[in-house]
Amino acid sequence: MSMAMTRKLHLNTLNQRFQKAQPEEIIRWAIEEFRPRIVLTSSFQTESVALLHMVSEIDPNQPILFLETGWHFQETLEFKRKLMELLGLTNVLELKADPTKRQASIDESGGKPYEKDPDHCCLINKVEPLQRALREFDAWISGIRRSQSKRREDISIVEEYQGDLIKINPLANVTSGDIWWYIKEHRLPKHPLFDQGYLSIGCWPCTKPVQPGDDERSGRWAGLEKTECGIHAFLKPKQAKPEKPVREAKEEGEGI
Ligand code: SF4
Repeated sequence: MSMAMTRKLHLNTLNQRFQKAQPEEIIRWAIEEFRPRIVLTSSFQTESVALLHMVSEIDPNQPILFLETGWHFQETLEFKRKLMELLGLTNVLELKADPTKRQASIDESGGKPYEKDPDHCCLINKVEPLQRALREFDAWISGIRRSQSKRREDISIVEEYQGDLIKINPLANVTSGDIWWYIKEHRLPKHPLFDQGYLSIGCWPCTKPVQPGDDERSGRWAGLEKTECGIHAFLKPKQAKPEKPVREAKEEGEGI
């Protein structure tokens, strides 16, 4: 039986307690509560720097997962190396796709799986490797924030998912301005592409600079309806929301 199965967390109480807490307090609680079965994911871009710094101050040996899709900007890989050295991070693990599936998707798409079917490309290069890795952990710290996009407005600080996985979003209440204050206060570096308008950076085929006035993540899969790679969407909530009565759903136009 995993630790999570024997542990009863009172999510509402925790979320109320952390509503006004500093991210460092939330991270410290999470690491102390779940160590050694807790992991952080990071894409090692500018907006990741603050969270990586906070974690390194608590435990530089904390496991950190990086999704190595094979399509990162060279600048991202160099920035990752620089941050690992600067922050003394000793436990950064690279997750990769199943090589057979990856090669098949490349062959079937004429070398450009991200153009032919970006959802499938994200599935095999990001979602599936993360799903496999998370089986080894009871808790996952993520750097997502409510202010990043409409899709992320409803996240909670502590969430519980099927499979007894707890997800902790210590930056849920943090704004982009807060991140910048933290970066300046601690004299941390920014991703080398940031000054060219790349406010949110993923794989190079799917990342463009953000246009003035658009949201921080608008440069990701620009021109497509896709706004997320799927790693923050595949988990199923522990307690499913009750289904709406048929009449109510029809009145709201669902399923028509
Ligand atoms: S972001 Fe683009 S290149 Fe990266 S895994 Fe997703 S579709 Fe593929």
